[in-house]
Amino acid sequence: MLFDKSKVKKVYMGRLENQDDLLEKISEFINKKKIKKGFISIVGAVSEATIGYYDQIKKEYKSKTIKKSMEIVSATGNISINNNEPFPHIHIVLADKTLNTVAGHLFPGTKIFAAEFTIIEFTGKDLIRKPDAITKLNLWG
Ligand code: ZN
Repeated sequence: MLFDKSKVKKVYMGRLENQDDLLEKISEFINKKKIKKGFISIVGAVSEATIGYYDQIKKEYKSKTIKKSMEIVSATGNISINNNEPFPHIHIVLADKTLNTVAGHLFPGTKIFAAEFTIIEFTGKDLIRKPDAITKLNLWG
């Protein structure tokens, strides 16, 4: 097990604009503010979304774009260092007009209808992603 103890350094709350790309804007924001370690939470709605899952046998991400209006029921993630820069890792649950949900790993290509975010920045040692031999993912090492 690997873990690190941190304290809250700063809390950011904000709103993203209509048609912004959810993942790209969060990534831009944390890079601009140099937030190297933190927690992300987003609620709102999207007009389309690209989400997916990691195929544990093939060791690759499979993604799917869903072109319809959906609520962001929950999107949570973390911020750590990947390839020497702040990197957001976010999973999202979306509900359509029938209130059925889809969920997965958030990819670029998710267009915001409206979104509010809370980002909590932590103090302490950076968590740095490194290639992992078993999963072939970049994990905290
Ligand atoms: Zn993921």
